[in-house]
Amino acid sequence: MSDVRIDVIAIGSLAANKYWNEKTAVREEYSTTTLVRAGKLVLVVDPGWPPEVLRSALYYRSGLASDAVTHVFVTHLDASHMRGIGLFGKAKWLAYEEELRYAQAEWPPEAPGRQALARLKAAPEKFAPGVDLYPTFGHTPGHASIFAYTPTQGTIIAGDAVLTRDHFEHGDLGEAPWDLEKAKLSLQDIVEIAEIVVPGHDNLFVCRGAGGLA
Ligand SMILES: [Zn+2]
Repeated sequence: MSDVRIDVIAIGSLAANKYWNEKTAVREEYSTTTLVRAGKLVLVVDPGWPPEVLRSALYYRSGLASDAVTHVFVTHLDASHMRGIGLFGKAKWLAYEEELRYAQAEWPPEAPGRQALARLKAAPEKFAPGVDLYPTFGHTPGHASIFAYTPTQGTIIAGDAVLTRDHFEHGDLGEAPWDLEKAKLSLQDIVEIAEIVVPGHDNLFVCRGAGGLA
């Protein structure tokens, strides 16, 4: 019996959602924050909300205090995906190796994310039985997702490889991904492997994978 359990802790938002006819930013942008538990692993993916919001959301949605979190994974190094990472002071902070290398080389020394970058380490390929790193390049150079699965169901915590359900249904990879072709391939991979998708800025949804996108 698999003990993998996935809970969305806080549903993300887009500053402007073109599928809601919004052309300019009308709200704060936050990532969807997800909790993955398997054995001793207590993993938070994309802690984009402010720390005080995440503290409450984690407790209200799981009964856990922030110091129970053992690992934090960020799908990519965007402020809206890591704003609350400081709440998890006892956890290991992780991202895909290539994403870290790119930021270390390209970010200016005064970039606001530099402090977090200094603490982030390269993520392992496997976090626990049934919880794997799943590279989904394209949105950024080293964008990566988490694939969490039981014998009967696979869930991808997709970060911005899938922005929202609307974007997914339209095969829309967002404005100006770093590499559009890689982003397309990543989306195809997601359609093929996952029954449930947790997007970067929306609630989770069920994916009818067979046949792919229209
Ligand atoms: Zn995002």
